[in-house]
Amino acid sequence: MEKDAKIYVAGHRGLVGSAIVRKLQAEGFANLVLRTRAELDLTRQAEAEAFFAEERPAYVFLAAAKVGGILANDTRPGDFIRDNLLIQTHVIEAARQSGVKKLLFLGSSCIYPKLAPQPMAEDCLLTGPLEPTNEPYAVAKIAGLTMAKAYRKQYGFNAISLMPTNLYGPGDNFDLASSHVLAALLRKFHEAKATNAPTVSVWGTGAPRREFLHVDDLADAAVFLMERYESGELINVGVGEDIAIRDLAALIREVVGYTGDIVYDASKPDGTPRKLLDVSRLQALGWRARISLREGVAATYAWYCANHGG
Ligand code: GDP
Repeated sequence: MEKDAKIYVAGHRGLVGSAIVRKLQAEGFANLVLRTRAELDLTRQAEAEAFFAEERPAYVFLAAAKVGGILANDTRPGDFIRDNLLIQTHVIEAARQSGVKKLLFLGSSCIYPKLAPQPMAEDCLLTGPLEPTNEPYAVAKIAGLTMAKAYRKQYGFNAISLMPTNLYGPGDNFDLASSHVLAALLRKFHEAKATNAPTVSVWGTGAPRREFLHVDDLADAAVFLMERYESGELINVGVGEDIAIRDLAALIREVVGYTGDIVYDASKPDGTPRKLLDVSRLQALGWRARISLREGVAATYAWYCANHGG
C-alpha cells in the first residue's frame, strides 16, 4: 500500500476497526476514509454502492460486523446472521464494482467445527458441525470468506480472508449481556472489588479453553498481511496458546486486585470446549503476536478504568 493510498476502514469505531486505524496512522497512512454507522449504513446496499462509487477507495479493511459474546449470539441469532450477511455482501460487491485494489475480510475462529482437532488449521473448515451457540454468526462469516474466494476466482478480485481468534483490548464492549468473556470478567472483578462483593460469578464450568489475541497484535497482522499476503486461502491469526476460562479468571482477579471468591454459574453455556488456532501458516510468513496475555490484560484494565469511570 502506498502511504497516500485511499484506505477505507469499515467499522472504525469498533474494537478491531479502531485498532486498525491506530496502526495505519502510526505507519504514516494519512488518506483514511471513515464513516460512522449513522453516516453510512452498510446493511443498505444502495448506501454502500453510492459510498464506494463516490469515494473510490483503493484498499478496504472490512472490520464492520455485528459481533458479541456467547449469550448475545445465542439469544439474537437472527440479527447476527442477517446483519453480517448484508454488510459483507454489500461491501465486497461494491468494492468489486468500484475497482478496489485489495480487500481484507475478517472472519472468526468460530467458523471451524465445534470438535475440530486442536490446534485448528485452516483446512478444517467445513469438515464437521459448528458450535450451536454461534452457528448463525459462523455461517455468515463462512459465506463471506467463500464470497471473497469466489470473487477472486471469477472476477480476479483481490480479497484476502483472516480468521482471528478471540480478541480483546481497548475499545472492547464491556456490556455484561453482550460482551465476550475477557471484557466481562474485567468488569465483574472491578465492580466486585469496588463494592466489596464476596463473590464473582463466572459462567459455565470454567473448563473451556480459549485463545486470546490483543487487538493491537491483530491490527499489526492485518496491515502486515494486506501488504504481503496474496492468496484466496484463509489465514489464521492468533497467538498459538490457549488458557482455561478458570485460569483466565484467576489472572484477571490478580490484575484487578480482587480478594473474594469465584463461583461458577452452571446455568450459562460453556460453548465450544476448546478454540485454539494453528498459526503455522502466518508464522511461516514471519509474523508473531508480541503482546503477552498478562501485559494485554493489564493494559486493557487500565483503559477500562480510564474510560468507564474506574
Ligand atoms: P465464545 O468464545 O463464543 O464462547 O464467547 P465468550 O467469550 O462469550 O465465552 C467464552 C467462554 O467464557 C464461555 O465458556 C463462557 O461461558 C465463559 N464465560 C465465563 N464467564 C463469562 C462472562 O461473564 N461473559 C461471557 N461472555 N462469557 C463468560
